[in-house]
Amino acid sequence: MQMTLTNFEGFVEAKIVERGYDYYRRGRIAKVEQVDEGEFSAIAFGSDDYEVYVKLDGERIVEYECDCPYDWGNTCKHAVAVFYQIRYGNFTGNSSDKFNSILKEIPNKDLRKFVINLLKRDRNFRRKFLREFDENFEDDEDDEFEEDYY
Ligand SMILES: [Zn+2]
Repeated sequence: MQMTLTNFEGFVEAKIVERGYDYYRRGRIAKVEQVDEGEFSAIAFGSDDYEVYVKLDGERIVEYECDCPYDWGNTCKHAVAVFYQIRYGNFTGNSSDKFNSILKEIPNKDLRKFVINLLKRDRNFRRKFLREFDENFEDDEDDEFEEDYY
């Protein structure tokens, strides 16, 4: 059986479902943005702020990740809270057209300059960039920052 927006409770530890639902109800998830068809990005407010990404294929949850330290091989409450928010339709319209039309207008030179500035200042972006484009990249992060896909 595959995990979907309507049955995910059966795939997640009961106490995490409960905590995630509580998180959702208390509005601890900042507005969920639909960044492309079926793809969502959100911030979860906790002792720290965590980034949550969810990818759907129709109702099916095909991929998700949260950058919180909860990495015992199980879904975290932040992801659960975002599932609820998506299930109940609390998300923005699709931003991908906006992204594309802005990107189309940016001169290459300006885009490169922007990326270089981010590479210098934003450690998370730098790691993602190197993981994607540097064939010698070795992730030396401790487990805390490991991304979970499942
Ligand atoms: Zn999390």
